[in-house]
Amino acid sequence: MQTRRFDGTLNPFNNQPYSKQYRGILRNRKELPIYAHMTANQIMIVVGETGSGKTTQIPQLVCHLDVPHSRGKIVACTQPRRIAAMSVAKRVADEMDLTLGKEVGYSVRFDDMTEPGTTFLKYMTDGMLLREAMSDPDLSRYSTVILDEAHERTLATDILMGLLKDVTKRRPDLRLIITSATLDTHKFQQYFGTDEHSLAPLFVIQGRTHPVEVIHAQEQEPDYITDAIRTVLRIHRMEGEGDILLFLTGQEEVDNACKGIMTGAQDLLKQNPSAVGPLVCIPLYASLDAEQQERVFDPPPPRRNPGGPAGRKVVVSTNIAETSTTVDGIVYVVDSGVSKQSVYNPRIRVESLSVSPISKASAKQRAGRAGRTKPGKCFRLYTEKEFKAFKDQDPPGILRGNLDSTVLALVKIGTRDLVQFDYIDSPAPETLPRALATLNYLGALDNEGDLTVLGITMAELPLDPQLAKALVVSPEFGCSVEILTIVSMLSVPNVWVRPTNQRLEADRARASLTIPDGDHLTLLNVYDKWVRNSRRSNWSWNNYVSQRSLLEAEQARCQLESLMIRFDIELVSAGKGPGLHKRVREALACGFFMQVAHKEGRAYVTVKDNQKVFIHPSCGLGDKPEWVLFNEFVLTSRPFIRTVTAIDPEWLLGEAASYYDIDNWKDGEAKRSLMRTRNQLPTQTSGHSSEG
Ligand code: ADP
Ligand code: MG
Repeated sequence: MQTRRFDGTLNPFNNQPYSKQYRGILRNRKELPIYAHMTANQIMIVVGETGSGKTTQIPQLVCHLDVPHSRGKIVACTQPRRIAAMSVAKRVADEMDLTLGKEVGYSVRFDDMTEPGTTFLKYMTDGMLLREAMSDPDLSRYSTVILDEAHERTLATDILMGLLKDVTKRRPDLRLIITSATLDTHKFQQYFGTDEHSLAPLFVIQGRTHPVEVIHAQEQEPDYITDAIRTVLRIHRMEGEGDILLFLTGQEEVDNACKGIMTGAQDLLKQNPSAVGPLVCIPLYASLDAEQQERVFDPPPPRRNPGGPAGRKVVVSTNIAETSTTVDGIVYVVDSGVSKQSVYNPRIRVESLSVSPISKASAKQRAGRAGRTKPGKCFRLYTEKEFKAFKDQDPPGILRGNLDSTVLALVKIGTRDLVQFDYIDSPAPETLPRALATLNYLGALDNEGDLTVLGITMAELPLDPQLAKALVVSPEFGCSVEILTIVSMLSVPNVWVRPTNQRLEADRARASLTIPDGDHLTLLNVYDKWVRNSRRSNWSWNNYVSQRSLLEAEQARCQLESLMIRFDIELVSAGKGPGLHKRVREALACGFFMQVAHKEGRAYVTVKDNQKVFIHPSCGLGDKPEWVLFNEFVLTSRPFIRTVTAIDPEWLLGEAASYYDIDNWKDGEAKRSLMRTRNQLPTQTSGHSSEG
């Protein structure tokens, strides 16, 4: 019934005749079983395994039901990942024979590809929808909201579930669809049931999967990357036709493995040209742009000659291919058993990424990727015993992450009682008070927990509260132009390029761009030099910095600049004068005074929580200053702080007096040093009677 609406000769969404390409895609689309499952419930949960068409098909079907374009409404589909929102929007625009950025668009942080009044289907990150809820708590522009990939349980999706549960009561015209790739949807059904006893309707999309044989390693291997490369090459040599998907943890690993596999495949070819087919290796990770990501959908290379061995495509991916991107044609999965996960350390209030074992649920999901087109095999690079020690599931984001931004958003939306908020899983008891305290120290919330004038502006900026604070106060230090650049540079993927075989050259180039006072100033220097060199990719290439990151930084900067103008944050520059560096460092200290470390012996110790840390070898600080602020905490062989800048202790006492109430601190080197600093200050700024 419904599908007939797709069959006319004119596209109902733009009244243009359908193209040939459209008809081809349509034929395949109708095969997807999802079409049997659409009904008119206000809230529904849809579960279907990865690749069943949840992300690409449900929003289209909803558009045909809602006809949002005729009512001035929009259908929203949220994604936990920025790259997924961008690439799926492109795919769906093609499927619907419409233009990306017109009828079908996307909205992610610092990149809005929508046209007001025209876009009626919008893919967006969950974080962006949460932002929109701050200024429009009823989400009145939307006719349907689809919270996609809800099984990932990101912090923003969880909070949106709570907010939308409420909005659907106020707005009977709003449809809400929650989709999940895993079967444990009982929790969602219960949460969205009309009372304790009823469950929200569930629709199961029948998968078309084939059996997957799982093969565990016989013994533990120390180096999973070498092991992975070897396994891929063994499959290439020994196993029948079919593409390979290898799971590793991060960009650098993925790039290195791709090189290793390509070299290995060429060697095999040289040894025996008739034994193996051609092989292409395609990397897949979040910081690729949408166009590069499209390459994973390319067909495998053709046979070299008729009757010769078939070509093979190897996709080397981070856990992004676990659920958010489905590549058809995969028959072999190689699973390293690890992923890079963000771990929040509430003691020092920072998040860090570390490589850790995946969960049993993830391992199962990864293996399932091999059975999409025909029976497949999954080679696990860990033993069965190791597998049994994996945790069942990853805890939801709300239990893992830092809640500072979320709490600021909730207060802005008008949530009165953060503890009583209807969380699907409540945060750990100490995290809410901690987030509230952080926002209070930053001056965003007053002692009653209400937003301050500063807090209102901070909430409007799509930045972490620390960065937002530094930016909002920077005009007082006459350097908002510079802080704007630094904040933008910190909002994009790492700008430094360091190829394994050119480390020396890369380090030399970096040293020549380094400002010894601090890495933040170095980032400023890189951006300014790039602009002065006409943003030439040649300049980036010669200096071992990423042109793509710089272009992204420029885009972020542009958007932030217009927000600054809108919210009356003055744009002033410290010029090139000698005071420039000092002012920039002081403005940064206003945001990052909770991420400060004091030099004690050869290491540093973080203030208040006394964690011993080391300055990351990539940092460019000249000599080791007594006090530093840092942007990141990384735990690898040791606890490191990264992106570090020298600061003066009197700034801490002056700008963050309530956090630096040193009279109440336990005795220690940091306290004694701050006491000495205070005693040397002119009396009117010290405030307290001196002691010690
Ligand atoms: P789900 O969200 O349920 O995991 P998707 O809607 O992402 O499923 O995918 C449905 C089908 O569309 C899959 O077979 C997938 O491989 C295919 N697909 C998705 N995006 C693209 C693309 N850009 N190019 C080619 N095929 C795609
Ligand atoms: Mg999906």
